[in-house]
Amino acid sequence: MARIPVVGGNWKMNTARSEAQDLLRDVRARLDGIAGVEVIVFPPAPWIADAADMLCSSGLRVGVQNVYWEPKGAFTGEISPVMIGATATDVLVGHSERRHVFGETDAETNRKLRAVLDAALRPTLAIGELREEAEGGQTEAVLRRQLLGAFEGFEALPDNLIVAYEPVWAIGTGLAATADDAQERCALVRRILAERFNHSSADACRVQYGGSVNAENAAGYAACPDVDGVLVGGASLNGASFEAICRAFVA
Ligand code: PEP
Repeated sequence: MARIPVVGGNWKMNTARSEAQDLLRDVRARLDGIAGVEVIVFPPAPWIADAADMLCSSGLRVGVQNVYWEPKGAFTGEISPVMIGATATDVLVGHSERRHVFGETDAETNRKLRAVLDAALRPTLAIGELREEAEGGQTEAVLRRQLLGAFEGFEALPDNLIVAYEPVWAIGTGLAATADDAQERCALVRRILAERFNHSSADACRVQYGGSVNAENAAGYAACPDVDGVLVGGASLNGASFEAICRAFVA
């Protein structure tokens, strides 16, 4: 089953407005109309409207890095998926910084995932093990727990959902997983999805690798049969690097 690779650029809490506009202009100039790979830019929430304006009709997608699960109400500081739907198409759910810096649980990830899907947005569900979990041989158990928790109560695997396998020890550290390890873990994610749902939906689901991906190592991941793209943090803040990563996935 052919899966179109997808590359996400997670800017995290970086860029002043003028820097964001410069980067959006640069990304658009470099990737406008790119075929054979889907590209999603996840800028900080205050720049989402700028991103939507500046990337409109480019084929590049705009996403947000986090949402709350309620559609509206007395939730000071939160952003609802319904609001996001006015400007963006994609949402990151369960990023490791949400889980480990802000203490987001699997149950909260489940609520966010449901809310994102209810708002007809497309989720990128991020999962991954901590260094001590990897060293303790718990990677499979952690991925299984995170996936089963995120999909608690789901009858089917949503057909537009992307899973990003991001080992926490590789994020922002420069210690990228080898291509072989990324392949093995992305295949494991697919096996867990097949057990939880069925083989055909697991085969159709795109599974990304994330963690210190850069212009130099991207081609190694692109060559892996079960790695359907990458989620990029630091390197997405540089237009040339982000372009090289995206182009590495064009067959
Ligand atoms: C991320 O933010 O999801 C990420 C993978 O960051 P980095 O590429 O900087 O490791």
